[in-house]
Amino acid sequence: MSDGTTTEGRTPTAQDIVGRDKDPHLDDDNPFEAMMARFDHAAELLDLDPGIYRVLRHPEKQLIVSVPIQRDSGDLEVFTGYRVVHNTARGPGKGGIRFDLRVTLDEVKALAAWMTWKCAVVNIPFGGAKGGVVCDPPTLSVGELERLTRRFTAALMDILGPESDIPAPDVNTNERVMAWIMDTYSMHQRHPTTAVVTGKPVEMGGSLGRREATGRGCMIATTEALKHLGLPLRGTKLAVQGFGNVGSIGAHLLEQEGLTVVAVSDVSGAIYNPNGIRVEDAMNWVRDHRYLSGYPGAEQISADELFTLDVDVLLPAAVENAITRKNAGDVRAKIICEGANGPTTAGADRILEENGVFVIPDILANAGGVTVSYFEWVQDRMGYFWDEGMVIDRLNGIMTNAFRDVLAVSQRHSVNMRVASYMLAIERVAAVHRLRGLYA
Ligand code: GLU
Repeated sequence: MSDGTTTEGRTPTAQDIVGRDKDPHLDDDNPFEAMMARFDHAAELLDLDPGIYRVLRHPEKQLIVSVPIQRDSGDLEVFTGYRVVHNTARGPGKGGIRFDLRVTLDEVKALAAWMTWKCAVVNIPFGGAKGGVVCDPPTLSVGELERLTRRFTAALMDILGPESDIPAPDVNTNERVMAWIMDTYSMHQRHPTTAVVTGKPVEMGGSLGRREATGRGCMIATTEALKHLGLPLRGTKLAVQGFGNVGSIGAHLLEQEGLTVVAVSDVSGAIYNPNGIRVEDAMNWVRDHRYLSGYPGAEQISADELFTLDVDVLLPAAVENAITRKNAGDVRAKIICEGANGPTTAGADRILEENGVFVIPDILANAGGVTVSYFEWVQDRMGYFWDEGMVIDRLNGIMTNAFRDVLAVSQRHSVNMRVASYMLAIERVAAVHRLRGLYA
């Protein structure tokens, strides 16, 4: 099995790249491998300079920290946290922090690189970073979560900063966690520093429209794809995997555009109603009952079945590896909008392409979140805040331009949207590397 660094220590040749991409033993479940397989393929098509190729294959910084906290019981427990800064050629590292039991260094490395490509696809002046703490948030009290967040932030003081590395929410982190990060960082700096983190509460330097931004970006990308394929909005059937911030808001906004949401899922399973599920009702149900299961007016189906439904659009909005070699052949949707990061494995990509599924890749589809994070950072640094209409207009502009830029590359090079988005992103990052040269 490849460890993702097979060419380490020597200049890779085109054969290395092609060889890796065709490697039948590629570890499809490893998100770092999945990211690298796509990166290698796009780098080969771009005929990327081998020196820049090597630089981009290595994250700039990888930090592993032990995070001791006192449990409510009085016991001390030590958690493991990671922060990876993949690349800062185009601007400060940018990317979320997730709290999850599945967090690994390989995952954080992949997610950090995806942030580099994502920020380049939407052409905002950030590089890529990501962080995570291995923990199970439902088992932590609010006080424990706060102590964990503050101690993790303190451990990252040397690398965080509005000019260097700016976290944001991700899986199982939210505005409240961002407020603790901002406060901890500011106490160390001895002055309030709002721009060190985005996705904060609006009352303390957050941006209007940030909470909805990722879902809104998915909505914009999906409507662009439907228009491009000549499909209508009204009555188009949508299934959504994941009913957190991205899935629920993405579903709600697409419903408002006229789509019919026939299935949604969360960790408790999936619910299905071919005549449509009212997203607001499902959101209210989850607010009152925590999970979707038991929702009246829809049939309970298995989480796996959701991917095989007769729908037009699939919105995977949970975590990595939802669509794999095993189930990609069963997908009947015409469009997949990747609300999550890395929901499709590299092996599944090929099957989907053969079957003519139009995939809006994660680094384009879910870039609305980091785009409004950029707006938040700009507003914090100006100390002057925009109304929601301005945020939405500018997000619309950036997302539609990015969709069209990727589509243009895809048509020019006869490649799918995923390969095109990597080619666009890598070329933008490489161009800055060439201009900046190498500090020695
Ligand atoms: N966690 C989100 C993502 O994966 C947002 C990152 C950000 O706003 O910095 O894109």
